[in-house]
Amino acid sequence: MHGTRILEEADRLMTVCNSCRYCEGLCAVFPAMEMRRSFSDGDLNYLANLCHSCGACYTDCQFSPPHEYNVNVPQNLAIARAESYAAYAWPRAFSGLFARNGLAISVIAALSVAAFIFGFAAFNDHQVLYGIHTGPGAFYRLMPHNAMALLFGAALLYAIIALTMGVRAFWRDIGEPVGGRVDAGSLFQAMRDAGELRYLDGGGVGCFNEDDHPTDRRKIYHHLTFYGFGLCFAATVVGTLYHYLLAREAPYAWWDLPVVLGTLGGIGLLIGPVGLLTEKWKRDPVLVDQARMGMDVAFIAMLFLTALTGIALLLLRDSAAMGPLLALHLGVVFALFVTMPYGKFVHGIYRYVALVRYARERQMMAHGAAAK
Ligand code: SF4
Ligand code: SF4
Repeated sequence: MHGTRILEEADRLMTVCNSCRYCEGLCAVFPAMEMRRSFSDGDLNYLANLCHSCGACYTDCQFSPPHEYNVNVPQNLAIARAESYAAYAWPRAFSGLFARNGLAISVIAALSVAAFIFGFAAFNDHQVLYGIHTGPGAFYRLMPHNAMALLFGAALLYAIIALTMGVRAFWRDIGEPVGGRVDAGSLFQAMRDAGELRYLDGGGVGCFNEDDHPTDRRKIYHHLTFYGFGLCFAATVVGTLYHYLLAREAPYAWWDLPVVLGTLGGIGLLIGPVGLLTEKWKRDPVLVDQARMGMDVAFIAMLFLTALTGIALLLLRDSAAMGPLLALHLGVVFALFVTMPYGKFVHGIYRYVALVRYARERQMMAHGAAAK
């Protein structure tokens, strides 16, 4: 007996697949499945988070609909994966944010942007808000640096704590001891697999999207999004180091490292999310969890808006539009931070953790085989 109907179905599918094993070369899910004879809820959640939704096992399957076995692994694991996000949410009271996630994120983002715009208007007189401010410290004439650091530091800290608690629950559920050491080799292998999106290539041919012709488009757009986000985060870290270690205040010159990193990351975050959204709308509905479309779209939209408002601020920072644009950008970024533990962002974290577990399992298998 499993905790949910979708896990019951996942168990049935994995049992069929374990007898068939035709897809074992496609991704990590099938080799991980083959290491088991039965499946606990945790095992199925682990397999669901290991799946990259490339669609290959649906296209290749001789038992997919209309066959009476009705084998649809990508869609089943996509639903199980989304349900696992809510199950591991911390605090539990907020797990409901995963239901109707698109609406929840939109409301939070709108409130956050409104709060920053009203705050800027309330604490600055008209001439300061619409004034032209240039040179180091220009942003802090509208909002003091300490207030900004405190607010965003608290939001980021909260997100890190909530995500850590979620990972802890996931790690425990998949049968790993909390507090146990994880070897560096598994962490590094998982980092490589995640960084390359190794299992989004349908066993080497590409990802299946709208038809039977695999392509690398989803992988490329995902890379642009992921590395764009990473570069923007790096820009924030370098800017923070500049401020505290070198006493250099933002905004920085065009050629300075935080601006170069942020601009490159912003371009990635403009192109990647648009591409992902386009591919998502074209995708064969039979492969996806249609009920959670709002969650995917909300996260993609938040990343796009973060980049769009950031680039607009960069381009217009020497004009009278800087004040309103700064409020808009900060409102979007604040909403992104506080909603990270309750939206699609978590897929990257849980998938990485599942890849770590998979690397450990393979290592143990290899050691077991060597010992024989
Ligand atoms: S998805 Fe279909 S073809 Fe692939 S292992 Fe499962 S039953 Fe076999
Ligand atoms: S959809 Fe792709 S990643 Fe997921 S189980 Fe099937 S082959 Fe593996």
